[in-house]
Amino acid sequence: MDHTKSAAVFAQAQTLIPGGVNSPARAFGSVGGTPVVIDRAEGPWLFDVDGNRYLDYVLSWGPMILGHANERVSAALCRAVSRGTSYGAPTVMENKIAEQVRKMIPSIEKIRLVSSGTEATMSAIRLARGFTGRDKIIKFTGCYHGHSDALLVSAGSSAATLGVPNSPGVTAGAVADTIPVPYNDFQAVSEVFQAYGDRMAGVIVEPVVGNMGCVVPKPGFLELLRQKCDASGALLIFDEVMTGFRVARGGAQEYFGIRPDLTTLGKIIGGGLPVGAYGGRADVMDAVLPAGKVFQAGTLSGNPLATAAGYETLRVIDQTADFYPRVASAMSRLGAGLEEAAAAAGIHARFTGIGAMGTLFFPPAGREAPSCWAEASACDTRLFARYFHAMLDRGIYLPCSQFEALFTSIEHTDEFVDMTVAAAREVFRSLKD
Ligand SMILES: *Cc1c(COP(=O)(O)O)cnc(C)c1O
Repeated sequence: MDHTKSAAVFAQAQTLIPGGVNSPARAFGSVGGTPVVIDRAEGPWLFDVDGNRYLDYVLSWGPMILGHANERVSAALCRAVSRGTSYGAPTVMENKIAEQVRKMIPSIEKIRLVSSGTEATMSAIRLARGFTGRDKIIKFTGCYHGHSDALLVSAGSSAATLGVPNSPGVTAGAVADTIPVPYNDFQAVSEVFQAYGDRMAGVIVEPVVGNMGCVVPKPGFLELLRQKCDASGALLIFDEVMTGFRVARGGAQEYFGIRPDLTTLGKIIGGGLPVGAYGGRADVMDAVLPAGKVFQAGTLSGNPLATAAGYETLRVIDQTADFYPRVASAMSRLGAGLEEAAAAAGIHARFTGIGAMGTLFFPPAGREAPSCWAEASACDTRLFARYFHAMLDRGIYLPCSQFEALFTSIEHTDEFVDMTVAAAREVFRSLKD
């Protein structure tokens, strides 16, 4: 595959932009080499500036669950553009998307739109603290909730990939009230609640983790969080920026049947435009200014283009029969195929998948798929890097880290999945030699 033009564009980018990228996950940091520069995308395909085509399992790190350049979303955007791109005043579309979200995720009685997942989680923990009048927040090691100071401690995603789970510039004071706890550790959660009791403002959790690779909660873990929050008066915050509209129509909370007090959304809710949201119990949300006193604002919040793309995306999902059974069946077919392809070459691999997200892990011999960051970080990242590049060479675009989930869209049919598995079979055979 020729990457001459990509290499030239990226070389120039490095003189203009730190590391050549506007978000670190894109930089191939943990797998080596230089990223391919994308020219356009359509359906399940990405096309780079050298004219190479890739089957896309990154999907903009989550948003594009309808595939790229979906006709209905593009048409909605064109209609919106011609009406002006921002007013900074209320619009009808904000009500429509709010109603649509509430219909799909009933725990979200009221919602506030923002412009990124980072803003959503930052605002949700401020609200939890403001509403309860308490300070302490539990966050789980290896979970990523965006890059606001208070949550950038023991973080997953590119923070973990690039070895800075705790970034320089985040002061001890900024994270003093954030208590990191290992994911799926029942005992540690109970101990923190015992120690801090009525100082606990809330717990923020990825109800299925995407940001250390795909890691699922153990049976009873989310239930425990619900119980502990109820018993102490703390708020349970599900960060569904990744899982919302991805693991099920109503997100992980529908899948596991747990009702959080607050939910944060991003990615899919923007249909590929910059949107985030936080919402939940009406009495809690009414503590947000100007209904209440907890400050949060945004010049472009509820932007007409973003809401048009998001609303149309949610409507297409809602109107497509069997949407989630279809994407989930493609994901489990992919998972079974990849595990089997690895096993056939004598390589130990374990797939974890749920809804339209999943990860192929390379755990130490004899170990199962990880259930926490300690186990995820023991996986073979060098083997992953070789697998990643060999797949890329065969036109399969995977997330460039063992600690990022891969995604499928409604455009990822069995035919494409089988193509991917066939490529993996070749790759694993070649890696073994
Ligand atoms: C991506 C992500 C975020 C951050 O969203 P941005 O839009 O990148 O700021 C927060 N939480 C989770 C679970 C995410 O996956």
